[in-house]
Amino acid sequence: MEDDCIFCKIASKEISKDLVYEDENFIGFLDINPRADGHTLIVSKKHYKSLLDIPNSLGNELQEAVKKAGLDLINSGKAEGFNVLVNVGEVADQVVHHLHIHVIPRNDGDSVRLFS
Ligand code: 5GP
Ligand code: ZN
Repeated sequence: MEDDCIFCKIASKEISKDLVYEDENFIGFLDINPRADGHTLIVSKKHYKSLLDIPNSLGNELQEAVKKAGLDLINSGKAEGFNVLVNVGEVADQVVHHLHIHVIPRNDGDSVRLFS
């Protein structure tokens, strides 16, 4: 756990947050500033700075978590599809330096802009 890392605090339950997903190494919760209703973040329980720092051995579990979050959005009727977005580095708009994957619901005719 890193001091002053908001996602470490959520992962350790120091800050209470409704989770939409949890397994051994990852949690999922709704983004506080969603680009679309249901915008979900999949976050590692352990503090890794970015996708570059996470061990490949967690890759399958991470993929499972992302797929589950996306499928839940589809099965609940919130989305017809979704975008998976990972920002690595401040130059790529990474603001929170704790690994997270954006799962962004998409629907026909929505006005979501991913790169603006
Ligand atoms: P980044 O630009 O680093 O890839 O995205 C960080 C995301 O985390 C942003 O979409 C932002 O809205 C979200 N976020 C930042 N702080 C919090 C928080 O305290 N709670 C939640 N639920 N989301 C947060
Ligand atoms: Zn952290």
